[in-house]
Amino acid sequence: MDSGELAARTGIPVCNIRSAGLAEFVDGSALFPEPGRCIKCGRPLVADDSGAHKKFINRGASLFFCISCLSVYLGVSEELVREKIDYFRKTGCTLFS
Ligand SMILES: [Zn+2]
Repeated sequence: MDSGELAARTGIPVCNIRSAGLAEFVDGSALFPEPGRCIKCGRPLVADDSGAHKKFINRGASLFFCISCLSVYLGVSEELVREKIDYFRKTGCTLFS
């Protein structure tokens, strides 16, 4: 699915799909374009979810994965993502304050 097709299906502006890097890895059948929800599974997001998405995928993103879906996308364990968040928080990263 290209970003134009994804935009037509979801109502997400093409620029958001591109900036969030979503077209390459989101299956359109399981897509939640609502702000505040994981784009992939629809789970309500917490601050660490959007912070991690910004840190690991795209600082300028406006739609986000939850940490579970992010770890699947990155090909690492959820535990590792949480460890990294703790690390970044301790070193003063403003995305996780
Ligand atoms: Zn998710």
